[in-house]
Amino acid sequence: MTITPLPPSSQADATTQLPDALGRFGKFGGKYVPETLMPALTELEQFFLQYRNDPDYQQELQQLQRDYVGRPSPLYFAERLTAHYAKPDGTGAQIYLKREDLNHTGAHKINNALAQVLLAKRMGKRRIIAETGAGQHGVATATVCARFGLECIVYMGVQDMERQALNVFRMRLMGATVQPVSAGTGTLKDATSEAIRDWVTNVETTHYILGSVAGPHPYPMLVRDFQAVIGQETRFQCQEKWGGLPDILLACVGGGSNAMGLFHEFVKEDSVRLIGIEAAGEGVDTEKHAATLTKGRPGVLHGAMSYLLQDSDGQVIEPHSISAGLDYPGVGPEHSYLKDSERAEYYSVTDQKAVEALRRLSQLEGIIPALETSHAIAYLETLCPQLSGSPRIVLNCSGRGDKDVQTVSKFLNL
Ligand SMILES: *Cc1c(COP(=O)(O)O)cnc(C)c1O
Repeated sequence: MTITPLPPSSQADATTQLPDALGRFGKFGGKYVPETLMPALTELEQFFLQYRNDPDYQQELQQLQRDYVGRPSPLYFAERLTAHYAKPDGTGAQIYLKREDLNHTGAHKINNALAQVLLAKRMGKRRIIAETGAGQHGVATATVCARFGLECIVYMGVQDMERQALNVFRMRLMGATVQPVSAGTGTLKDATSEAIRDWVTNVETTHYILGSVAGPHPYPMLVRDFQAVIGQETRFQCQEKWGGLPDILLACVGGGSNAMGLFHEFVKEDSVRLIGIEAAGEGVDTEKHAATLTKGRPGVLHGAMSYLLQDSDGQVIEPHSISAGLDYPGVGPEHSYLKDSERAEYYSVTDQKAVEALRRLSQLEGIIPALETSHAIAYLETLCPQLSGSPRIVLNCSGRGDKDVQTVSKFLNL
């Protein structure tokens, strides 16, 4: 199947008009950065606005999405998972998986990394930096840097380097430098802070490929638009499969890029329910979780105003999740906006439930999902019994679980 890309104008029409000129989604977002970064953010925004409608840029991007990444990713009807949730009267949710796990490098992260590296090339920047948690964004960035012969430095917390050793090795194999970050808890928040610090120092030569819909404007907009291909393909594939829209979209939320990538195309479709799932870790009533939208309060982190896990003094609370990709105390500002405007719903799922869901999908469908994705899969346990009729759910299968097998075996004492 080939998908004819939507012309840029209809892409714009199909989406919300936010952020505003200041990079704000309502009160969220913005650019809370040191003065030295302001020109770089402005330059990045200008290049983005110039090239997103540029035929040469679009052609290069689309060709690589097809031949290098493997797009379009399939929309797969999960027959046995659907049967698992069928009701005695034969009704029940019809569950489809958007197979971002089949992308080159195993997750949705490559969509954004590829599009950004093509921008960096046009900006004349030959040194690339990135932050990574689970290592998936680091791997995606190392991959596209290898493809274009660019220097690549990936900042990664020491704790994440340990739990995602396979991805550290993959990055190094492709010629990237993995820079360990031992500050704080040695996780994604600390790696992101280090990447921003590097960018402040080397901004003339360096492009920062930020990996989610977080950070200062224009990143939340830019990463969203680069991931929106997920929802655009989904609309086409739903049309092709049943001639209509999906009823419910379900995705896990760390920073929120795979969820925004799926949601964006449908935000204006009032009939489509949007559901994001955060990491409840050991439980939202313990101190060990990463449920930012459920338990956080608005605050500023990494250049943007958004919901944030913080104590009464405004100090960031260290998050916890079994999945390194969801282990982040912030969340993209557009999700905060969608929550407050009640356009999207957000719930959370514990480590335990996520691991159970990982096993369930593995055994019912022969697909081992990433631990991040498993949070969204786990929410089907709550959601499906609440639904009447046979609504069609599209669940974003954001990544594959190869990187997580060691973590899971440790968790299960196997
Ligand atoms: C990084 C990652 C996530 C979380 O990041 P978002 O920006 O929220 O999408 C989810 N799933 C997988 C497989 C990831 O690698």
